[in-house]
Amino acid sequence: MNEEFIPYGSQWIDEQDIEVVTETLKSDYLTTGPKIKEFEDKFADYVDAKYAVVIANGTAALHAATYAAGIKEGDEVITTPITFAATANSVLYQDAIPVFADIDPKTYNIDPESIKENITDKTKAIIPVHYTGQPCEMDKIKEIAAKNDLIIIEDGAHAVGATYKEQKIGSIGDMTTFSFHPVKNMTTGEGGMITTDSKELYDKLLKFRTHGITKNHSDYINKSHGPWYHEQQELGYNYRITDIQAALGITQLGKLDIFLARRREIVNRYNNEFKDIEGLIIPEQLEKTNSAWHIYVLQLELEKLTAYRKEIFKALRDKNLGVNVHYIPVYFHPYYQSLGYEKGICPKAEKLYERIITIPLYPKMADQQVDEVIKRIKSTITNYQK
Ligand SMILES: *Cc1c(COP(=O)(O)O)cnc(C)c1O
Repeated sequence: MNEEFIPYGSQWIDEQDIEVVTETLKSDYLTTGPKIKEFEDKFADYVDAKYAVVIANGTAALHAATYAAGIKEGDEVITTPITFAATANSVLYQDAIPVFADIDPKTYNIDPESIKENITDKTKAIIPVHYTGQPCEMDKIKEIAAKNDLIIIEDGAHAVGATYKEQKIGSIGDMTTFSFHPVKNMTTGEGGMITTDSKELYDKLLKFRTHGITKNHSDYINKSHGPWYHEQQELGYNYRITDIQAALGITQLGKLDIFLARRREIVNRYNNEFKDIEGLIIPEQLEKTNSAWHIYVLQLELEKLTAYRKEIFKALRDKNLGVNVHYIPVYFHPYYQSLGYEKGICPKAEKLYERIITIPLYPKMADQQVDEVIKRIKSTITNYQK
């Protein structure tokens, strides 16, 4: 056998990326130099937001956002269980309570109706996750937020470059967070970003990134002692990112549209090849959304198959496909169980979890690798058709 291993995701680093990182290493600034603001400005421009704050990673971006939103002890924040744990953890960091709304079984994104059902007097914010890169139903979510005076923090970790009704993700909610982990659509090694149109939120995010300290004279609470003066006004963290990483972010952002185009090309092939296969459901897309296709998730129609996901997953791994599952519902994790969350609260999400497999998708995939993935999946599924 010895077929080539194909991972589910991978970065694309080229000579240009290596060159700018090397140049930055030779410059005066390794951290918090000119590349930070340049990356932020270019990113804000790309997503059509007024402000962008680059930060240590996507989790720190979420933490900064729940902080800036003023989420505090006892507050409830509604999110989806079909996400990486970091989304809900960012609510716990603020001693607040994540409340899990169920998903729409068609798009796998948070269901606006379920958001409504979970609103209480304590609800302060909604964190929709644009799962796989497909935008959530933002019009409905905005309407719910406006009616109930809720803040919207979008987890856009999958969705850099996605659009909802021609609007870029990053320009819609009160804040949007992004991740630049190597498996994401663009990378800085580790890295994240928060975008917003609010000057007030922007100022809070900046402070939070650097210990809660400001060096901005006009903001001082006490009288300045002299030119060395700065003030810690809030409890922040060191969530800074290096200039080296920001330099990489700039060149990666410059290639993002090329990466996205290649992702979409591969997805079109997958959709065409898999749409008529008994036992497979391809990802359904809402009208007027343009996914960033961070991951490609196949749903198994178990009623038409002779095995469960576990066995099929294993058969695909045995064929050297780096398949994965995104995600274990967050509240299934022992830590969340220890907080009192019980299985059964989001039945649609739990049902989906039993059926999904993430298959390889990344822009650097060669056509021949795409062919291989299709071939290996088809031959595996055929084995299990009723
Ligand atoms: C990757 C990811 C994060 C966390 O980003 P990091 O940069 O790894 O901290 C948060 N939410 C979602 C949905 C993600 O996929």
